[in-house]
This record gives sequence, structure tokens and C-alpha cells, in this order.
Amino acid sequence: MQVILLGPPGSGKGTQAARLATQAKALRLTTGELLRSAVRDGTQLGRSAEGYMNRGELVPDAVMIGLIQEQLNRAAVGSGFVLDGFPRTTAQAEALATMLCQHGGRVEHAVLLDVPEPEIVARLSGRRECAACHAGYHLRFSPPQVVDKCDQCGGALIQRSDDNEATIRKRLAVYAAATAPLVDFYERQGILRRVAGVGGPDLVFAAIWSQVS
Ligand code: AMP
Repeated sequence: MQVILLGPPGSGKGTQAARLATQAKALRLTTGELLRSAVRDGTQLGRSAEGYMNRGELVPDAVMIGLIQEQLNRAAVGSGFVLDGFPRTTAQAEALATMLCQHGGRVEHAVLLDVPEPEIVARLSGRRECAACHAGYHLRFSPPQVVDKCDQCGGALIQRSDDNEATIRKRLAVYAAATAPLVDFYERQGILRRVAGVGGPDLVFAAIWSQVS
């Protein structure tokens, strides 16, 4: 399975990428997670990405393409992959095609998760994560058993620094301007699969699986 997940922030790409990769025994690459971990570790990548992330802007293409190239060089692409959060611009999509070609792979399915904007803002503003183990929660849809405490490790739950309303609006505008054109890009190649990203994670997963398996 060689799949990329497209969709605005908060459309459920992270949740579905994890499930897809497990089910298909494929490599999962989530660029947002890779960047957040680099920021926490204070690496050069983290230091150069942090400002863009906090402002809700995209990290420059050259940095992101370098990061994915490095990840693809390390892993066996042939056994399949699920990319979540990459590509986000046409330049990244073109670079991805070239990089995969070098590894004997290609994007088979570009899955677009369709979620209405008001639902996205509600999802993102209620999202929380454990500061210690990074387990995900939602104040309304999947609250922890004890307020502000992780069910798994007891760590404190925090809000991602880019999940405040002003930055959410900025990220949605950036998605519309830079990433939404990829829908046409993959549609022209005949590999775009549209899936309604609402109705609960199980339903969404079943809809994705029926399109890509
Ligand atoms: P995400 O967790 O996917 O919402 O990503 C969080 C932030 O990481 C984004 O708002 C961007 O600042 C940055 N980011 C993640 N993936 C990319 C990418 N492919 N290109 C540029 N910036 C990215």
C-alpha cells in the first residue's frame, strides 16, 4: 500500500494514518510529529521549524523535502507507506514523485478527507495531548477520565501551541492556498480518493480501507 493522506488540519489524518499503517503493516511518516519531536529535542531542524509552526505557516519546501528524503532513504519503501502531512505543496508533491521513483515506488492512492470547516475548528480547539507520552485526547469527543490527566501515564494534558483559534484560522488559510491545489494535481493522475471525514473514526477508516485495499 502506497498512500498519502490529504485534508485540512483537524480532518483526522493522524488518527487514520496510524490505523492504516497498522492494518497494512506499512511505514507511517507523519511530518507534523517528526517536526514537533525535533522542536522538543532542540535539534537544528526543530530550531528552524519552530517559528513557522507557531505562526501556522508552512516550513520551507527545501527543509521538508530533505526531511522526507532522509526518512525514505532509511526505510524500505517497497513494503508500503502511509504519508500524513506530506506533501503540502505542489513542489513537495513533484519532489515526492521523483524520490519515490528512485526507490522503485509511487503514490497509488491520494486519500482526501473531507470535513466541513466549522467541524474542523471545533475539533482543533478541543484537542489536547499528553505532555509526556503524546497520547491524544479531545475535550468533547474523547475526554480523559480525570480532568487534564493522561489515562495512560498520568501526564499533564496540554494544548498544542498551534491549536489556538487565531493560528487555526491561519493554518486553514494556508491549507486553502498551498495544499488544496494538490486535490487537482492527484485528480489529474486518476488516483484521488474522496472520503467523508465525519461520522466517527471507525466509519471513516472503513470508508478509506474500501478505497485503498
Ligand atoms: P500538522 O501536525 O500536520 O498539522 O503539522 C503541524 C505544522 O508542521 C504545520 O502547521 C506546519 O508548520 C508544519 N508542517 C508539517 N508538515 C509540513 C509540510 N509537509 N510542509 C510544510 N510544513 C509542514
